[in-house]
Amino acid sequence: MNKTQIKETKGKLLAERDASIQKLKGSDLSVDDAETPDPVDLAVRNYSKNVQLAVSENESKQLVLIDEALLRIEDDAYGTCLNCEKEINPKRLAAIPWARYCLDCQSLQERGLLDQE
Ligand SMILES: [Zn+2]
Repeated sequence: MNKTQIKETKGKLLAERDASIQKLKGSDLSVDDAETPDPVDLAVRNYSKNVQLAVSENESKQLVLIDEALLRIEDDAYGTCLNCEKEINPKRLAAIPWARYCLDCQSLQERGLLDQE
């Protein structure tokens, strides 16, 4: 990756980071309910609460990945697979700028066959 690409990627990551933080803030605000709702209402609210929790869990995980990617940019280690240390396909990085692994290692990780995490 050249400097321009790194700069663009950094911009993308920072924008994603902001968006994630906004989403997390948004889901915090909507999780308070003062009135006593009827059962149907309650079920709906519980459902949307669960969805929100799932969303914020995903968002916080993504935030960690984004922060890690930004650190790798600072360390000049960006774009290298954390497992096999090969270069990650630029197309993959364009789609998922916070990717930690190359495609091969990612599929290992998804099957729980990777040591890290
Ligand atoms: Zn790899």
